[in-house]
Amino acid sequence: MLIVQKFGGTSVGSAERIKAVARRCLATQRQGHRVAVIVSAMSGETNRLLALAREISPEPNERELDVIASTGEQVTVGLLALAIQAEGGNAISLLGHQVRILTDSAFARARIREVDVHAITDAFAQDRIVVIAGFQGVNKGGNITTLGRGGSDTSAVAVAAALKADVCEIYTDVDGVYTADPNVVPSARKIARISYEEMLELASLGAKVLQIRSVEFGMKYGVPIHVRSSFNDNEGTWVVPEDKAMESVVVSGVTETRAEAKITMVGISDAAGIQARVFRPLAEAGIVVDVIVQASSSEGHTDLTFTLPKGDLKRARDLLAKHCGDICPADRIRSEENLSKVSVVGVGMRSHAGVALKMFEILARENIRIQLISTSEIKISCVIDTKYSELAVRALHDGFELGTVRA
Ligand code: ASP
Ligand code: MG
Repeated sequence: MLIVQKFGGTSVGSAERIKAVARRCLATQRQGHRVAVIVSAMSGETNRLLALAREISPEPNERELDVIASTGEQVTVGLLALAIQAEGGNAISLLGHQVRILTDSAFARARIREVDVHAITDAFAQDRIVVIAGFQGVNKGGNITTLGRGGSDTSAVAVAAALKADVCEIYTDVDGVYTADPNVVPSARKIARISYEEMLELASLGAKVLQIRSVEFGMKYGVPIHVRSSFNDNEGTWVVPEDKAMESVVVSGVTETRAEAKITMVGISDAAGIQARVFRPLAEAGIVVDVIVQASSSEGHTDLTFTLPKGDLKRARDLLAKHCGDICPADRIRSEENLSKVSVVGVGMRSHAGVALKMFEILARENIRIQLISTSEIKISCVIDTKYSELAVRALHDGFELGTVRA
């Protein structure tokens, strides 16, 4: 088989751990597999590099920032290749531009366009383990780019897709993907198999095990992703195409995202084009809005409510005051912070009725007030006061019986 293994920052956080990774890669190769390994920087290293850059310049040039941030991975590929050699193995390290992981030119958040597999397959032909720097690529002009925080996951899945690997193993410091955060819900269970679509929802709703783009890549190219622990040999969670059995599970997981805020513009005109005028200055400022709800209009007026990260609230209010004063005077822009979004996710929702009702009943039993609701085909989210979000997650996890092992 051809196996791609990715090790995150904590898995390569010290010389000892790098040696352990080297032994695991070698053990895999000795079972007769071809192995490509993608590594992140040592834990804390990318933060340190970015902070250093900001000490020099508060708003650093993004091209240079990528030159700096990408060095964390250059160190770990070298160290891991050395560690494999020290164990008697044969390995070669490759940086993004040496593989040729071609990206667009959006520094700090580049997207992969193409992965050239030649350097990797040449090394396989010499029985080498290929150690590839995650997080980094190169644009058409030869400049180093990076893929955004957590981007090594995406490097790994993209390399796996290009190589048509049998599996992309993501080694991390947890055992897999859980039905809820085990720190909040002690009875949370590891999920054995989950669809790409559910994983995408979970990743965007706060489950941090995989960068969202890596799941998109996996889904697009059908790469089986196995999320597992680098500290043991347990089976982790398989992220795979949806199958019939998954549909019988109505809810697969419960998540919460905190630090949300809400803005309501009261009594604005419901004329055509108003919403575009409201959201344009926010979009131009890079503010990501999430749940948007417009009340039904009466006599040409309506209320428009939306959520956004709490950290962007002040900026958003200032922008609205500046650009939308004629639509909505400042005293009619209400806001609230300290909100959480709790969500239940599951492909089975598509074919089961009453899931929303059940969620509302569970929250009602705990006396939790729902401020906003949004849904997709496989997800229901409720925005509530952060004070109650742990309680909500536990109640939903219990109510949907996610702690119960299924046959
Ligand atoms: N080292 C990068 C980061 O900390 C990429 C990664 O770890 O996936 O974001
Ligand atoms: Mg990560």
